[in-house]
Amino acid sequence: MRIAVCCTDQKVAPWIEGLAAALPEAEVFEWRPDAPEADHAVVWAPPQAFFDAQPRLKGVFNTGAGVDALLKLQLPPQATLVRLDDAGMSVQMAEFVCHAVIRHFREFDGYERDEEQGKWGFRKPRLRSDYPVGVMGLGVLGQRVAQALAAFEFPVRGWSRATKDVPGVQCFHGEQGFQDFLAGTRVLVCLLPLTDDTRDIMNRANLSRLLPGGYVVNVARGAHLVDEDLLALLDSGHLAGAALDVFRTEPLPADHPFWRHPKVTVTPHTSARTLRDESIAQIARKLRAFERGEPIAGVVDRKKGY
Ligand code: NDP
Repeated sequence: MRIAVCCTDQKVAPWIEGLAAALPEAEVFEWRPDAPEADHAVVWAPPQAFFDAQPRLKGVFNTGAGVDALLKLQLPPQATLVRLDDAGMSVQMAEFVCHAVIRHFREFDGYERDEEQGKWGFRKPRLRSDYPVGVMGLGVLGQRVAQALAAFEFPVRGWSRATKDVPGVQCFHGEQGFQDFLAGTRVLVCLLPLTDDTRDIMNRANLSRLLPGGYVVNVARGAHLVDEDLLALLDSGHLAGAALDVFRTEPLPADHPFWRHPKVTVTPHTSARTLRDESIAQIARKLRAFERGEPIAGVVDRKKGY
Protein backbone atom coordinates (compact mmCIF):
# COMPACT_ATOMS: atom_id res chain seq x y z
CA MET A 1 0.00 0.00 0.00
CA ARG A 2 1.35 3.43 -0.96
CA ILE A 3 0.46 6.54 1.05
CA ALA A 4 1.19 10.04 -0.22
CA VAL A 5 1.36 12.76 2.43
CA CYS A 6 0.55 16.32 1.37
CA CYS A 7 0.22 18.64 4.34
CA THR A 8 0.87 22.27 3.52
CA ASP A 9 1.51 24.69 6.40
CA GLN A 10 2.71 21.86 8.68
CA LYS A 11 6.03 20.05 8.97
CA VAL A 12 5.59 16.95 6.82
CA ALA A 13 8.55 14.89 8.08
CA PRO A 14 7.05 13.98 11.50
CA TRP A 15 3.80 12.89 9.80
CA ILE A 16 5.73 10.67 7.41
CA GLU A 17 7.87 9.17 10.19
CA GLY A 18 4.83 8.60 12.41
CA LEU A 19 2.72 7.03 9.68
CA ALA A 20 5.61 4.83 8.52
CA ALA A 21 6.13 3.60 12.10
CA ALA A 22 2.39 2.95 12.61
CA LEU A 23 2.01 1.23 9.21
CA PRO A 24 5.27 -0.65 8.57
CA GLU A 25 3.58 -2.59 5.76
CA ALA A 26 3.04 0.67 3.80
CA GLU A 27 5.31 2.85 1.70
CA VAL A 28 4.80 6.38 2.99
CA PHE A 29 6.22 9.33 1.07
CA GLU A 30 5.93 13.09 0.80
CA TRP A 31 4.05 14.13 -2.31
CA ARG A 32 5.89 16.09 -4.99
CA PRO A 33 4.70 16.65 -8.56
CA ASP A 34 6.95 13.79 -9.76
CA ALA A 35 5.95 11.37 -6.95
CA PRO A 36 4.44 8.00 -7.89
CA GLU A 37 0.70 7.35 -7.68
CA ALA A 38 -0.57 6.34 -4.26
CA ASP A 39 -3.45 4.22 -2.96
CA HIS A 40 -4.25 6.61 -0.14
CA ALA A 41 -3.52 10.21 0.77
CA VAL A 42 -3.07 11.95 4.11
CA VAL A 43 -3.70 15.64 3.56
CA TRP A 44 -4.08 19.08 5.01
CA ALA A 45 -4.89 21.94 2.63
CA PRO A 46 -3.44 20.23 -0.46
CA PRO A 47 -3.34 22.07 -3.80
CA GLN A 48 -5.59 20.96 -6.66
CA ALA A 49 -2.42 19.79 -8.45
CA PHE A 50 -2.13 17.04 -5.84
CA PHE A 51 -5.48 15.46 -6.77
CA ASP A 52 -4.87 16.05 -10.49
CA ALA A 53 -1.72 13.93 -10.18
CA GLN A 54 -3.37 11.24 -8.00
CA PRO A 55 -6.48 10.14 -9.93
CA ARG A 56 -6.63 6.59 -8.51
CA LEU A 57 -6.79 7.30 -4.77
CA LYS A 58 -9.00 4.95 -2.78
CA GLY A 59 -8.97 6.98 0.42
CA VAL A 60 -8.24 10.59 1.35
CA PHE A 61 -7.61 11.07 5.07
CA ASN A 62 -7.88 14.69 6.23
CA THR A 63 -5.78 15.65 9.26
CA GLY A 64 -8.57 17.88 10.58
CA ALA A 65 -12.29 17.62 11.36
CA GLY A 66 -13.56 20.31 8.96
CA VAL A 67 -13.56 19.46 5.25
CA ASP A 68 -15.08 22.66 3.81
CA ALA A 69 -11.81 23.79 2.18
CA LEU A 70 -11.13 20.30 0.80
CA LEU A 71 -14.58 20.07 -0.76
CA LYS A 72 -13.86 23.18 -2.84
CA LEU A 73 -11.33 21.05 -4.78
CA GLN A 74 -12.01 18.36 -7.39
CA LEU A 75 -11.31 15.07 -5.62
CA PRO A 76 -11.16 11.78 -7.54
CA PRO A 77 -14.84 10.71 -7.57
CA GLN A 78 -14.17 7.16 -6.34
CA ALA A 79 -12.06 8.27 -3.35
CA THR A 80 -13.60 7.92 0.11
CA LEU A 81 -13.02 11.11 2.08
CA VAL A 82 -12.41 10.56 5.79
CA ARG A 83 -12.10 13.25 8.46
CA LEU A 84 -10.55 13.08 11.89
CA ASP A 85 -13.10 12.36 14.50
CA ASP A 86 -12.06 13.69 17.88
CA ALA A 87 -8.44 12.41 18.10
CA GLY A 88 -7.95 14.62 21.17
CA MET A 89 -9.86 17.62 19.79
CA SER A 90 -13.14 17.34 21.68
CA VAL A 91 -11.58 17.77 25.13
CA GLN A 92 -9.71 20.86 23.91
CA MET A 93 -12.93 22.23 22.45
CA ALA A 94 -14.79 21.57 25.70
CA GLU A 95 -12.07 23.41 27.66
CA PHE A 96 -12.13 26.36 25.30
CA VAL A 97 -15.91 26.78 25.18
CA CYS A 98 -16.44 26.22 28.92
CA HIS A 99 -13.74 28.81 29.60
CA ALA A 100 -15.39 31.34 27.29
CA VAL A 101 -18.87 30.76 28.72
CA ILE A 102 -17.75 30.81 32.37
CA ARG A 103 -15.57 33.88 31.84
CA HIS A 104 -18.62 35.73 30.53
CA PHE A 105 -21.06 34.30 33.07
CA ARG A 106 -18.82 35.01 36.07
CA GLU A 107 -17.81 38.45 34.70
CA PHE A 108 -14.10 37.74 34.94
CA ASP A 109 -13.33 40.49 32.41
CA GLY A 110 -14.91 42.98 34.79
CA TYR A 111 -12.91 41.66 37.75
CA GLU A 112 -9.73 41.95 35.66
CA ARG A 113 -10.50 45.61 34.98
CA ASP A 114 -11.22 46.14 38.69
CA GLU A 115 -7.88 44.57 39.59
CA GLU A 116 -6.05 46.98 37.29
CA GLN A 117 -7.60 49.83 39.31
CA GLY A 118 -7.00 48.17 42.68
CA LYS A 119 -10.76 48.00 43.18
CA TRP A 120 -12.30 45.43 45.58
CA GLY A 121 -15.97 45.07 44.66
CA PHE A 122 -18.44 42.24 44.29
CA ARG A 123 -20.84 41.79 41.44
CA LYS A 124 -24.30 40.37 42.07
CA PRO A 125 -24.19 36.62 41.41
CA ARG A 126 -25.89 35.65 38.17
CA LEU A 127 -28.28 32.72 37.99
CA ARG A 128 -27.39 29.80 35.73
CA SER A 129 -31.06 29.46 34.88
CA ASP A 130 -30.80 32.92 33.22
CA TYR A 131 -27.95 31.69 30.99
CA PRO A 132 -29.21 28.89 28.78
CA VAL A 133 -26.41 27.89 26.41
CA GLY A 134 -27.33 26.72 22.90
CA VAL A 135 -24.87 24.58 20.94
CA MET A 136 -25.41 24.56 17.17
CA GLY A 137 -24.11 21.23 15.85
CA LEU A 138 -24.36 18.09 17.95
CA GLY A 139 -21.66 16.04 16.28
CA VAL A 140 -18.40 14.73 17.69
CA LEU A 141 -17.35 18.11 19.08
CA GLY A 142 -20.76 19.65 19.79
CA GLN A 143 -21.94 16.76 21.95
CA ARG A 144 -18.79 16.78 24.04
CA VAL A 145 -19.05 20.55 24.53
CA ALA A 146 -22.76 20.37 25.38
CA GLN A 147 -22.15 17.70 28.01
CA ALA A 148 -19.20 19.59 29.53
CA LEU A 149 -21.42 22.68 29.87
CA ALA A 150 -24.20 20.56 31.37
CA ALA A 151 -21.72 19.26 33.96
CA PHE A 152 -21.37 22.90 35.12
CA GLU A 153 -25.17 22.87 35.48
CA PHE A 154 -25.94 25.38 32.75
CA PRO A 155 -29.25 24.72 31.03
CA VAL A 156 -27.97 23.35 27.70
CA ARG A 157 -29.81 23.21 24.40
CA GLY A 158 -28.53 21.67 21.21
CA TRP A 159 -29.48 21.90 17.54
CA SER A 160 -28.75 19.44 14.74
CA ARG A 161 -30.22 18.31 11.43
CA ALA A 162 -31.52 14.95 12.57
CA THR A 163 -33.29 14.17 15.86
CA LYS A 164 -30.84 13.56 18.71
CA ASP A 165 -31.06 12.33 22.26
CA VAL A 166 -28.15 13.66 24.32
CA PRO A 167 -28.38 13.18 28.12
CA GLY A 168 -28.66 16.51 29.94
CA VAL A 169 -29.25 18.46 26.71
CA GLN A 170 -32.57 19.75 25.39
CA CYS A 171 -32.38 18.81 21.72
CA PHE A 172 -33.92 20.63 18.75
CA HIS A 173 -33.57 19.79 15.10
CA GLY A 174 -34.23 21.08 11.61
CA GLU A 175 -35.58 24.39 10.36
CA GLN A 176 -38.67 24.20 12.55
CA GLY A 177 -36.69 23.52 15.72
CA PHE A 178 -34.18 26.29 14.95
CA GLN A 179 -36.48 29.17 15.85
CA ASP A 180 -37.45 27.60 19.20
CA PHE A 181 -33.80 26.77 19.87
CA LEU A 182 -32.70 30.39 19.30
CA ALA A 183 -35.58 31.94 21.22
CA GLY A 184 -34.58 30.20 24.47
CA THR A 185 -30.80 30.64 24.11
CA ARG A 186 -28.68 33.39 25.70
CA VAL A 187 -25.21 32.07 24.95
CA LEU A 188 -24.83 30.71 21.42
CA VAL A 189 -21.99 28.31 20.55
CA CYS A 190 -21.34 27.44 16.90
CA LEU A 191 -19.95 23.97 16.18
CA LEU A 192 -21.49 23.40 12.77
CA PRO A 193 -19.61 22.33 9.67
CA LEU A 194 -19.42 25.04 7.01
CA THR A 195 -21.85 24.09 4.21
CA ASP A 196 -24.20 25.95 1.86
CA ASP A 197 -26.92 25.54 4.52
CA THR A 198 -24.89 26.91 7.42
CA ARG A 199 -22.88 29.74 5.80
CA ASP A 200 -23.88 33.14 7.32
CA ILE A 201 -26.17 31.38 9.81
CA MET A 202 -25.17 33.85 12.54
CA ASN A 203 -26.72 36.82 10.78
CA ARG A 204 -28.69 39.76 12.12
CA ALA A 205 -32.09 38.03 11.91
CA ASN A 206 -30.97 34.88 13.74
CA LEU A 207 -28.78 36.63 16.33
CA SER A 208 -31.66 39.04 17.07
CA ARG A 209 -33.75 36.07 18.19
CA LEU A 210 -31.39 35.25 21.06
CA LEU A 211 -32.43 36.35 24.55
CA PRO A 212 -31.30 39.95 25.23
CA GLY A 213 -27.74 40.28 26.52
CA GLY A 214 -26.71 37.30 24.40
CA TYR A 215 -23.15 36.08 23.97
CA VAL A 216 -21.67 34.37 20.91
CA VAL A 217 -18.88 31.77 20.85
CA ASN A 218 -17.74 30.90 17.33
CA VAL A 219 -15.32 27.98 17.19
CA ALA A 220 -16.43 26.48 13.87
CA ARG A 221 -15.68 28.59 10.77
CA GLY A 222 -15.49 32.35 10.19
CA ALA A 223 -18.04 32.25 7.38
CA HIS A 224 -20.77 31.10 9.79
CA LEU A 225 -20.82 34.64 11.17
CA VAL A 226 -21.75 37.87 9.40
CA ASP A 227 -19.17 40.16 11.01
CA GLU A 228 -21.00 43.45 10.50
CA ASP A 229 -24.27 42.00 11.89
CA LEU A 230 -22.49 40.91 15.06
CA LEU A 231 -20.87 44.36 15.43
CA ALA A 232 -24.24 46.12 14.94
CA LEU A 233 -25.91 43.95 17.61
CA LEU A 234 -23.01 44.45 20.04
CA ASP A 235 -23.22 48.20 19.54
CA SER A 236 -27.03 48.22 19.96
CA GLY A 237 -26.61 46.31 23.25
CA HIS A 238 -28.70 43.29 22.17
CA LEU A 239 -25.55 41.19 22.41
CA ALA A 240 -23.20 41.51 25.38
CA GLY A 241 -20.08 40.06 23.77
CA ALA A 242 -18.41 37.41 21.67
CA ALA A 243 -15.48 35.01 21.85
CA LEU A 244 -14.26 34.37 18.32
CA ASP A 245 -11.65 31.79 17.38
CA VAL A 246 -12.28 31.61 13.61
CA PHE A 247 -12.57 34.31 10.97
CA ARG A 248 -13.49 34.85 7.33
CA THR A 249 -9.89 35.84 6.66
CA GLU A 250 -7.15 34.19 8.71
CA PRO A 251 -4.92 35.58 10.06
CA LEU A 252 -7.47 38.23 11.08
CA PRO A 253 -6.38 41.43 9.24
CA ALA A 254 -4.70 44.01 11.49
CA ASP A 255 -7.36 46.65 10.76
CA HIS A 256 -10.36 44.39 11.49
CA PRO A 257 -12.63 45.99 14.13
CA PHE A 258 -12.80 42.70 16.12
CA TRP A 259 -9.21 43.21 17.31
CA ARG A 260 -10.00 46.35 19.25
CA HIS A 261 -13.68 45.91 20.08
CA PRO A 262 -14.05 45.95 23.90
CA LYS A 263 -16.75 43.26 23.82
CA VAL A 264 -14.93 40.86 21.48
CA THR A 265 -12.26 38.34 22.43
CA VAL A 266 -10.07 37.11 19.57
CA THR A 267 -8.00 33.90 19.53
CA PRO A 268 -6.03 32.62 16.50
CA HIS A 269 -8.00 29.49 15.45
CA THR A 270 -6.61 27.55 18.34
CA SER A 271 -9.63 26.15 20.16
CA ALA A 272 -8.95 22.52 19.15
CA ARG A 273 -5.62 21.77 17.49
CA THR A 274 -4.79 18.60 15.60
CA LEU A 275 -2.65 16.43 17.88
CA ARG A 276 -0.19 14.60 15.67
CA ASP A 277 0.33 11.37 17.60
CA GLU A 278 -3.39 10.79 18.28
CA SER A 279 -4.21 11.65 14.68
CA ILE A 280 -1.61 9.31 13.22
CA ALA A 281 -2.84 6.47 15.43
CA GLN A 282 -6.44 7.11 14.34
CA ILE A 283 -5.59 7.37 10.64
CA ALA A 284 -3.50 4.17 10.80
CA ARG A 285 -6.37 2.31 12.51
CA LYS A 286 -8.88 3.52 9.95
CA LEU A 287 -6.60 2.80 6.99
CA ARG A 288 -6.16 -0.82 8.04
CA ALA A 289 -9.89 -1.26 8.65
CA PHE A 290 -10.66 0.39 5.30
CA GLU A 291 -8.24 -1.96 3.51
CA ARG A 292 -9.99 -4.94 5.16
CA GLY A 293 -13.30 -3.60 3.83
CA GLU A 294 -14.65 -2.83 7.31
CA PRO A 295 -16.83 0.23 8.03
CA ILE A 296 -14.98 3.22 9.54
CA ALA A 297 -16.13 6.33 11.39
CA GLY A 298 -15.72 9.80 9.97
CA VAL A 299 -16.53 9.11 6.32
CA VAL A 300 -17.65 12.42 4.78
CA ASP A 301 -20.91 12.56 2.87
CA ARG A 302 -19.82 14.81 0.02
CA LYS A 303 -23.42 15.72 -0.86
CA LYS A 304 -24.15 16.91 2.69
CA GLY A 305 -20.75 18.60 2.88
CA TYR A 306 -19.66 17.09 6.23
P1 NDP B 1 -19.63 16.56 12.94
O1 NDP B 1 -19.75 16.32 11.48
O2 NDP B 1 -19.37 15.42 13.85
O3 NDP B 1 -20.97 17.29 13.46
C1 NDP B 1 -21.63 18.27 12.75
C2 NDP B 1 -22.96 18.57 13.43
O4 NDP B 1 -23.57 19.69 12.77
C3 NDP B 1 -23.96 17.41 13.36
O5 NDP B 1 -24.66 17.30 14.57
C4 NDP B 1 -24.92 17.85 12.26
O6 NDP B 1 -26.24 17.39 12.38
C5 NDP B 1 -24.92 19.36 12.45
N1 NDP B 1 -25.35 20.03 11.22
C6 NDP B 1 -24.76 20.04 10.01
N2 NDP B 1 -25.48 20.76 9.13
C7 NDP B 1 -26.57 21.19 9.80
C8 NDP B 1 -27.70 21.96 9.44
N3 NDP B 1 -27.88 22.43 8.20
N4 NDP B 1 -28.62 22.21 10.39
C9 NDP B 1 -28.47 21.73 11.65
N5 NDP B 1 -27.42 21.00 12.06
C10 NDP B 1 -26.49 20.73 11.14
O7 NDP B 1 -18.50 17.67 13.10
P2 NDP B 1 -17.52 17.95 14.35
O8 NDP B 1 -18.34 18.08 15.58
O9 NDP B 1 -16.39 17.01 14.38
O10 NDP B 1 -16.90 19.38 13.92
C11 NDP B 1 -17.74 20.50 13.69
C12 NDP B 1 -16.95 21.61 13.03
O11 NDP B 1 -16.04 22.21 13.95
C13 NDP B 1 -16.03 21.18 11.88
O12 NDP B 1 -16.76 21.03 10.67
C14 NDP B 1 -15.04 22.33 11.80
O13 NDP B 1 -15.50 23.32 10.90
C15 NDP B 1 -15.05 22.90 13.23
N6 NDP B 1 -13.73 22.71 13.88
C16 NDP B 1 -13.07 23.82 14.36
C17 NDP B 1 -11.85 23.67 15.01
C18 NDP B 1 -11.14 24.86 15.58
O14 NDP B 1 -9.99 24.73 16.02
N7 NDP B 1 -11.75 26.02 15.66
C19 NDP B 1 -11.23 22.35 15.17
C20 NDP B 1 -12.02 21.26 14.67
C21 NDP B 1 -13.24 21.45 14.03
P3 NDP B 1 -26.60 15.81 12.26
O15 NDP B 1 -25.93 15.16 13.44
O16 NDP B 1 -28.06 15.78 12.35
O17 NDP B 1 -26.02 15.36 10.94
